[in-house]
Amino acid sequence: MANVSNIVMKFGGTSVASRDAVFAVVAIVKRYRKAHPVVVVSAIRGVTEALLAFSKCPKAKISGRISALRTVHEKLVAAIFPAASDVSEIMAYVVAQLAHAEKIARRGEFTPEKMDELVSSGEIMSSYIVSYALRSGGIDSEQIISTEIVATDDNFMQAEFMPDETERNAGKILGPLIKRGVVPVVTGFLGCTKDGRITTLGRGGSDYTASIIGHALSSKEIQIWTDVDGIFTADPRVVESARVITDISYREASEMAAFGARVLHPRTIRPAVEKNIPVRVLNTFNLGTTGTLVSPRSTGVGLKAIAFKRNVVLVNVYSDAMLFSRGFLARMFEIFARHQISIDLVSVSEVSVSVTLDDVHHLASVIKELETFSKVSVYKESFGMVSLIGQGIATSRDIMRDVSAQFSKEKIPLRMISMGASDINISLVIHSADVERAVNKLHNHFFNI
Ligand code: ADP
Ligand code: ASP
Ligand code: MG
Repeated sequence: MANVSNIVMKFGGTSVASRDAVFAVVAIVKRYRKAHPVVVVSAIRGVTEALLAFSKCPKAKISGRISALRTVHEKLVAAIFPAASDVSEIMAYVVAQLAHAEKIARRGEFTPEKMDELVSSGEIMSSYIVSYALRSGGIDSEQIISTEIVATDDNFMQAEFMPDETERNAGKILGPLIKRGVVPVVTGFLGCTKDGRITTLGRGGSDYTASIIGHALSSKEIQIWTDVDGIFTADPRVVESARVITDISYREASEMAAFGARVLHPRTIRPAVEKNIPVRVLNTFNLGTTGTLVSPRSTGVGLKAIAFKRNVVLVNVYSDAMLFSRGFLARMFEIFARHQISIDLVSVSEVSVSVTLDDVHHLASVIKELETFSKVSVYKESFGMVSLIGQGIATSRDIMRDVSAQFSKEKIPLRMISMGASDINISLVIHSADVERAVNKLHNHFFNI
């Protein structure tokens, strides 16, 4: 472990996507220089998506798409660096990365393992550029590829980190740099298996990288720099009247992330909790705000925020004869668990069990097994979920009364409801088409707008 206490600063895809954004990053890092920052970066906005799309790209279009990615990087680099020699040095690096990505795309074998190797180029390129920009701005900096630090299992595309090994690697690699006053620029999103294969931590995983590094170094603070002023009462891109939450507890922020608020990767908070590290969400493009502080401190009971998922998979399992026979639910959940599918909500009636899922990997095999003893129907696109989040809300009867009144006024049918295992979440399953309207109506009702 590093002996110097430090902060981790993560900059997301939009924060590295333009000249102004990268200049803002350099200025922000300068400002925090005395706090010995470790910087974590995402790929340039849109690049991960474009790399993932190679799995569905006809062979004839591969080179065109690679050159489009080259252009994205070249435009950025040319806008940042006035000297042609800098541009050509960086572009040589970018082109080599893209050549590797192209080779994988051409092979056409898109296993989760190969996909991780392919998408890793996004963060590898952006971290090189940001580190270079910091040096040009007079800050001693070194690019670090996180496969050397973040040790994970081999659950490709959704890997989980291994704390002990990661801590050892971070101490060995980052510790000496921090001590020398060098700012490491670490690739977000990427990890590595024991036997050296590249993994990723799931979409949006750079937030998680930041908290993994913070955990490994026992940092003073984890900062998530993004493109909005902090964590809002609802997604500000969907709810115009949403407001910044200045203080929120670990539990509430975790619940928001798990139930769809993209501002934090769902697993970001856990490592911070273990080491009691505050997490601050800040806007790269607006330094005049203090953002949101996520900490162990409770900020009182009541509704804090509304999160949503536009699409959830709803699975109904019917069995008139079997439901109340001993072990039915256990047998059913065991099948989901064995296929590593986690269930968000469960509702049980006399003859059926409904569950909602986020991740549909392996769903076909689950259904096949369930069908050996029950009737199964799956609704893939048509349902979404709205979640009300705040300490103590699930035990408040008034909230449910108000939700029902709002929904009946708006003619929004409620398909399923769950009060959560804890008392901080009420989730409502409704038609996807109603989600945005429901979020707006509930938000404006509960926040008195
Ligand atoms: P980054 O690339 O910086 O990681 P993301 O797009 O992953 O950025 O996350 C930031 C986005 O999260 C915001 O632009 C916003 O639209 C969305 N978001 C969803 N829910 C919330 C919320 N409750 N508060 C703030 N932002 C939210
Ligand atoms: N670049 C990755 C993604 O788009 C990770 C991240 O941005 O956090 O999912
Ligand atoms: Mg993100």
